[in-house]
Amino acid sequence: MKTKGLYLAAGIGAMTATYCSLVGCTSKEEIKHPNVIIFFTDDQGYQDVGCFGSPLIKTPNLDQMARDGMRFTDFYVASSVSSPSRAALLTGCYPQRVGVPDVLWPNSETGLSNKETTIADMLKANGYATECIGKWHVGDRPGYLPTSQGFDTYLGIPYSNDMSINQNFKRSKDLVYNEGMNLDSLLEKKWRRGKVPLMKQDEVIEYPADLDNITRTYTKEAIRFIKEKKDSPFFLYLAQTMPHVPLHASAAFSGKSPRGLYGDAVEELDWSMGEILRTLKELGLEENTLVIFTSDNGPWKLKDGKGGCALPLRGFKGQTYEGGFRVPMIAKWVGKIPAGTTNHEVASSIDFLPTIARLTGAQLPAAKIDGLDIWPLLAGEKGAKTPHESFFYYYKDELQAVRSGDWKLRIVDGQEELYNLKEEVSESTNKASENPEIVKRLKQKMTRFDKQLQTEIRK
Ligand code: MG
Repeated sequence: MKTKGLYLAAGIGAMTATYCSLVGCTSKEEIKHPNVIIFFTDDQGYQDVGCFGSPLIKTPNLDQMARDGMRFTDFYVASSVSSPSRAALLTGCYPQRVGVPDVLWPNSETGLSNKETTIADMLKANGYATECIGKWHVGDRPGYLPTSQGFDTYLGIPYSNDMSINQNFKRSKDLVYNEGMNLDSLLEKKWRRGKVPLMKQDEVIEYPADLDNITRTYTKEAIRFIKEKKDSPFFLYLAQTMPHVPLHASAAFSGKSPRGLYGDAVEELDWSMGEILRTLKELGLEENTLVIFTSDNGPWKLKDGKGGCALPLRGFKGQTYEGGFRVPMIAKWVGKIPAGTTNHEVASSIDFLPTIARLTGAQLPAAKIDGLDIWPLLAGEKGAKTPHESFFYYYKDELQAVRSGDWKLRIVDGQEELYNLKEEVSESTNKASENPEIVKRLKQKMTRFDKQLQTEIRK
């Protein structure tokens, strides 16, 4: 068991007291320790959900989830690429703070330090069952995999599905080989793009992973876990591999969407969410489970329809325009989050950790975090405003932009761009020259924040 910067774990009694004082329970019968499910897709664009405006992709389950919950229009991940975005969600920190500023590769020497407190660490210390399913991508060497980061159990592909095998992985004695591969091909030092391992705990159980059926595999495991843990509080982090390229869909979805294989993959993800929501309902867990849907970053700019769509936003994955950072987000918790609502306040994936801490009575990490409690937004409290005075957009180690209120300043290669996101979400008209005072103010915020953060980076 690694040493984490957690305060002493609160017992169930303390959890109950904290939970009720914060959430406002009125009777003992209402006392619950909510389950938490985070359903995190990969490279799904801002527009690629029906209720976010997709003209072609059908997502009836996510649309229904929005009708039963809250849709966020100004929700941000803390990086426009995978590894940093995931490190941020898991720790409640800008990824630079926790030493994951850029994408990691198989057998990378570094990753998210297991000294950091993840949401899973925090909830596990509070008696929760914790499972990670899917794409990990914050380190794949021993000590960096999910089971070293607070998760009891793991099933998934440990990084992007366009990568290859890390030959050093432990192998299950029951390892299943597909596509004519064998131990020799696994061990061969050759980059086979898209031939990635499926792992259980810290061992490869299938090589290469069956990507056509990967969404089904994850969904089946998610339902197994929910059913098994229905009587104890649980945290499920389901980080879907799709719709990251190479795109795949099972036979039931392949060739169905007019948006091509990308649409097929997203529609299968929608099915997956539908299965999970249906399971919660059948088990009577709807009123005791917070379910969050979002994407790890904006869509890839790819030809032939392989990438997603961030319209009406500007830009793509890997950029600090809105299209890279702003993603669709839906949250559902029957009886707690007002149904059919839309929230336009700024919120971020770094806010999940502190918000979940509040809801579950878990103790926050001892080390500094950047995320803030967004429960007042989720609960639909009247007049609730974003807790973020400013939100920062980093590209690798470089702070490139800040949003404060409706204004966003972006500075790349000395070029200053100022946009009013309320007037024009598409970042088309640079208003820097006519607003020197706003530019100056936002520039100062960037300088101050970055200077401070650079002195506080943990590795
Ligand atoms: Mg991604």
